[in-house]
Amino acid sequence: MTPGVEWVAHPLPYTGRMSYVVRTYGDPVLRQVAKPIENVDGALVQLVDDMVETMYEAVGAGLAAPQVGVQRRLFVYDLDDGPKAIINPEIVESSGELYHDEACLSIPGLRIGIVRPETVLLKGFDLDGNELIIEADDFMGRMFQHEVDHLDGVLMIERLDDEMRKHALRILRDRAMGLDTSAMEAKLVSAGNDRPV
Ligand code: ZN
Repeated sequence: MTPGVEWVAHPLPYTGRMSYVVRTYGDPVLRQVAKPIENVDGALVQLVDDMVETMYEAVGAGLAAPQVGVQRRLFVYDLDDGPKAIINPEIVESSGELYHDEACLSIPGLRIGIVRPETVLLKGFDLDGNELIIEADDFMGRMFQHEVDHLDGVLMIERLDDEMRKHALRILRDRAMGLDTSAMEAKLVSAGNDRPV
């Protein structure tokens, strides 16, 4: 189990799946650019199943392969209508601008307000090789951007402006030294409660 990632029993009757340890801030795998997937085979399907299991255990709404240490362009998500996987996702269009809180399974306990495009068009493939084109806004649109960032080795703190990024990094540094950062954290957030991704 990863320190700081809360474990609760997920509601689906999965049995016998493996769950990964979610890689957390400071792990170099989170900074690398993931490679495109060329074949969907049994190993990839098993990876997807295990990533879904890991996401449920961590009570997240989305999870990208690098977060379990796998350098492939793939993420899974579940917005309460069943688990889905997207292979080789790309954001091909974006518009608008929205400030909202986000939380990341790889940076446990840190919730930060970030400005991102409000609406995106995501292209990718499902596990059957069908091309997907999904327009998404609100939480889904932000989650897609957050997951594609993970595939490019980008963490949400890099989407902050310089001042707020320094503030967030100071919180992470102080926490690593065992200091209480709760007073500093108020500056980073508004009032969101979306699940981490
Ligand atoms: Zn994340």
